[in-house]
Amino acid sequence: MGRLVMKFGGTSVANIERIQNVARHVKREVDAGHEVAVVVSAMAGKTNELVAWCTEASPMHDAREYDAVVASGEQVTSGLLAIALQALGIQARSWQGWQLPIRTSDAHASARIVDIDGSEIIKRFDERKEVAVIAGFQGINAETNRITTLGRGGSDTSAVAIAAALKADRCDIYTDVDGVYTTDPRVVPKAKRLDKVAFEEMLELASQGAKVLQVRSVELGMVYNVPIFVRSSFDKPEDIDPHGTPPGTLICSEEKIMENHVVTGIAFSKDEAQISVRRIEDKPGVAASIFGPLADANINVDMIVQNVSEDGKTTDLTFTVPAADFARAKQTITSAQDKIGYARFDSETDVAKVSVIGSGMRSHAGVAAQAFAALAARNINIRAITTSEIKFSVLIDAAYTELAVRTLHTLYGLDQV
Ligand code: ASP
Ligand code: MG
Repeated sequence: MGRLVMKFGGTSVANIERIQNVARHVKREVDAGHEVAVVVSAMAGKTNELVAWCTEASPMHDAREYDAVVASGEQVTSGLLAIALQALGIQARSWQGWQLPIRTSDAHASARIVDIDGSEIIKRFDERKEVAVIAGFQGINAETNRITTLGRGGSDTSAVAIAAALKADRCDIYTDVDGVYTTDPRVVPKAKRLDKVAFEEMLELASQGAKVLQVRSVELGMVYNVPIFVRSSFDKPEDIDPHGTPPGTLICSEEKIMENHVVTGIAFSKDEAQISVRRIEDKPGVAASIFGPLADANINVDMIVQNVSEDGKTTDLTFTVPAADFARAKQTITSAQDKIGYARFDSETDVAKVSVIGSGMRSHAGVAAQAFAALAARNINIRAITTSEIKFSVLIDAAYTELAVRTLHTLYGLDQV
């Protein structure tokens, strides 16, 4: 017997029939003798609709009321799933974030979980074998007593945090794909599903554009060492052997992965913009004068390259920001032109970042060099490069994204044979 958290995303609870399918997945685990807490998202599209309603009511709205509105999507699905479970003869009840409670910070619309009281759920596991159906995405701030939400995609984070609080053996994320792939199979049909991925690698994959899991949920899994299993909710519950190993990807600590590939996966993102600030006087403090105001404006700067300007006397700074923040970044820098002291502001929004990730890079030299040669052979120009211990990224013209991803996927032997 074990203790499981099962999380179902929006497409898995998109209508009553799917919710009933979810109930049968849960029943399978209960029948196998497990203690189960289920975490649900809102029905597919529901949160978008609720967000749009807030904006329609007033473009500038109170974030506390936004949270009161958008948290309702998960309230509905948690209740419906409890009803569907009861209809199968399973003891179950729904829990809203405030009822447990799931305490969070007061950063409305992007709150952080502070702690979760799982004692009542555990007591009910013991006393009545009751399944807990918990609304994902939401919590409560203890000081203000107001409902909060964790940011879009937050129910993954709810699920992993609840798994940590309940000391669950595993957190199963049921979604519309059957695991984590070496890259997006829509771009590279030869992409293959990974059996296991280390937390660190998944963190990089998720931050660099793979959209399977919310980044924060992986962070939490790593900190609390909660194994996360990504699997499909579209498999028929009846076809799955609860004691067998179903298809999916286990995200776990590196020690549990025997065979380390040099490269595990390739992620890409087209949501980047490149900025070049040219002919800055080369003296101490200029980088701070540019990046300080961007940080104050809450704009994340990613790749940074500094090189000598064409005139040989001044310096150029090139860096990337999220495309969504580009307009604000431009405004922040151009309005401080006199203070910073630069000659020209250049930008390019049609760019993409391609990232190669693998914990084996720690112990292998020359992994990135191979990529540069392969991209050059395809005539793909690299605009900027960054590297870390287990990842390197290149910034290229967006038009070449697919070609670059395919080239690298083959180069590192990831194509399915
Ligand atoms: N329903 C929320 C959203 O769409 C939370 C989630 O699904 O993870 O962002
Ligand atoms: Mg999601």
